[in-house]
Order: sequence, then C-alpha cells, then structure tokens
Amino acid sequence: MVAPQRPHKGANRQDASVNPTSAASIDEDALLTDLLDLLRIPSVSGSTAELEVQQHLAAAWQAEGLTVDRWDIDVPGLERDAQFPGMEVERTAAIGLTATLAGDGTGPTLLLNGHTDVVPPGDLDAWSGDPFRPRLVTVDGTDRIVARGACDMKAGVAAMWHAVSAVKKAGVPLRGNVILAAVSGEEDGGLGTFALLRHGVTADLCIVPEPTAMDIIPANGGALTFRLTVRGLATHAARRTEGVSAIERFYPVLLALQDLERRRNASVDALMQRWPLAYPLSIGTIRAGDWASTVPDLLTAEGRLGVALGETVAQARAELEASVAAVCAADPWLADHPVEITWWGGQFASGRTPADSPVIGLVAGVHQDLTGHEAEIYGGPYGSDLRLLMGLGGIPTVQYGPGDAAAAHAPDEWVPVDEVLTTARALVQVILRVCA
Ligand SMILES: [Zn+2]
Repeated sequence: MVAPQRPHKGANRQDASVNPTSAASIDEDALLTDLLDLLRIPSVSGSTAELEVQQHLAAAWQAEGLTVDRWDIDVPGLERDAQFPGMEVERTAAIGLTATLAGDGTGPTLLLNGHTDVVPPGDLDAWSGDPFRPRLVTVDGTDRIVARGACDMKAGVAAMWHAVSAVKKAGVPLRGNVILAAVSGEEDGGLGTFALLRHGVTADLCIVPEPTAMDIIPANGGALTFRLTVRGLATHAARRTEGVSAIERFYPVLLALQDLERRRNASVDALMQRWPLAYPLSIGTIRAGDWASTVPDLLTAEGRLGVALGETVAQARAELEASVAAVCAADPWLADHPVEITWWGGQFASGRTPADSPVIGLVAGVHQDLTGHEAEIYGGPYGSDLRLLMGLGGIPTVQYGPGDAAAAHAPDEWVPVDEVLTTARALVQVILRVCA
C-alpha cells in the first residue's frame, strides 16, 4: 500500500546538514536535450522506429546506471491472449522496457509509465515544418516544443526519466522501487502496457504523464473500434429500382447510431460532466461502390464507440448491436441481409481508479505544494493504458502530465516547456514521498 504524506524523514538522517532530498533537482538542459532526441525518432505506431526509440531509451537508461530489463515482446503470442487489448497496425515485433531505481525493499513500488509510439503526422502541408525535426518556438511569451509526439507523450517520458535521474544523482536512499516503463503500441490498443503486465511488472501506484495540462485524470471513458458491413444488390444505375443501394440502406443505420449516442450521453458520471460529449459514437470512414453508374452492393463503415465509466465492454457492444438490429428488423432487405458488425482494432475498456485511492491525493498535494494551484480532477473522454494498469493490473493509476491533449494528434503538436519541467519536478516529489 501507498503511504502518502508521510512526514519527511530528512531530519532523522545521519547527516542533517546535507539533505539529499533537497538536492534532487532536475537537470533542465539534459531533460530538454533528451526530449529533442526522442522527438527526432519517428516512432509511429507499427513502424520500425517504434523499436528504435525503445532501443534508444534502453541504452540511455543503461548508461545512467539504472537496472534495465529489455525484452522482445511475443506479439503473436499475446494476440492469442483472451484479454489482448487489440491492435490496429501491422506489427510482428515490439520491445518491452523497464528501468528500475531500486530501494531497499521496505517501501512501496512506484511505476511511471509512458508510451513512446506516436500517431502519424497526417497532412504534412498543415505542419509549419518537418514533424520529426523538433523546434523551439515562443508563442505569447511561452516557450513551446513543436514536433509529432511532443505532448503525446515524449515530453512526459522525458519528464519521468529525468525525475528518476535527479533522485538517483542526489543519492537519496529509497525504501521502495521506482520503475520507469516505456511502452509501445499505446495509440492502437495498448500492446506495450499489456505486455508489461503479462511480463509480471506490478506496482502499488502508477503515474502516466500523458498530456493533461497538469490536471489529474483518474478515469477514462473507453473506445471500441467497429466495422459495419452493409450489403446491397448491384445493378446498372439506369435500372436502379431493380437493385438495392448499400448506401441508402446504411442511412437509417447512421440515424439510429446518432440517436444511440444521444441516449448514451443523456446522463453521465460527475467526473465526465465537463465534456460537451462524454462518450462519442463516431463514424470515421465509409467506403461504398466502385463505379458512378452502378448501384453499390457493398458499404463498409468504421467507427468508434465510447464506453461509459462503469460500463463493461460487453454492455457497450450490446447497445450498439441492439440498435443496428432494430434497424435491420424494420427493413425487409436488411432483415434478410443483416448488417454485419465486427469489433476489431483497439478495444479500450473504460477505466477508473477509485476516488479514495491515495495516489489521487498524493499527486494533488504535490501539485499544490509545487505550483500553489489546485489541480482539477476529472475523467478523460479517451481510452488509454490507465484501464489496463488499473483494470487488469490492479494498480491505482492517474494521468498527470505536460501539454494539452487538444494539441495531440494535431499538426504542429506542441508542449509548453514550463509544464515539462514542472511535471519532472512534481514526479521527483512523488518519488520522494512514496519511495524515500
Ligand atoms: Zn498518449
């Protein structure tokens, strides 16, 4: 169990004149240099650079004298696991990585978990420069680092890394272990954290420095990727009444899904009420037809169903399936040719760390002491590794990190430098309060 808010023990140490806890300060230049190096590696989910960034960190953490565990993840083996969280890119290899700063075994274990994969840059014309050549810009007097992965979440990874470095260099004696975990495949399902848990890594509490703009996020809605297949009957458009358009049959399905979204958001948990739409149900792709003057006989639509806090994946799926089934039952063609639903790709359950978990108050207290501001506490509307760490690993977890999630996945993704440094300083305090 966590023992938060214990009084500092500095006064009890043998040499009270040199308090190592106060010497644990962040090397800001080194942190920013290491962050820029991470951003130069185009570690898009599923690319070979996803492996490269893990190797880069393994070498760097080894060089710092941390105890590094680097392993090849058995991707096909994990895919066969009944609880595998899904994957949306081709990937046959991945690297697992932890680095431990060991305590004497008498205190709680703190896990700092960050993903090193990033989403693709999207439309390069929308960027002001190369997404993988990070640059420092000043906007409204604030220094920002701009690059793909800046806030989501290499800044968080650099911050947690340098928090551990600071504590190590200060020579603070620790009772509990601090584990740095760098994970792959977060963006498309959570392969890396799933592998981490299956590898046997466990902890008493965990912080994931995802971009929360320094707020505290102890819960996430989930997100389930689905595909709808609608079949019609092809014929020449000149005789269209003798065919069945898959596009026209899809239209009532779309309306039913919009109605379902409204119903699912009519009343939401207090943690989610800040969002205009807590649990979006969105169609992201539609493909239909192959010729302008042919009645289309096939439509596939892919989308994302938000999962409510406290709702199971099975319950959420059942609601969408019932909604589509009702449309099919009311349509003679669809009654005979029902819309097929496939749940594929990322299957993010919702997740929630219990409100009375010490990790929430711990991070809130550290943030308050460091900044003089009270951090807001609310749920995120996106799926993340939190649900695996808490739900599967039983590790009370919060997200707390630099940058605004609105800048994530966007062109000119950016992170404010001051928040990166504040996160690193806050994590130093968390390590000292939990593990020292
Ligand atoms: Zn992220």
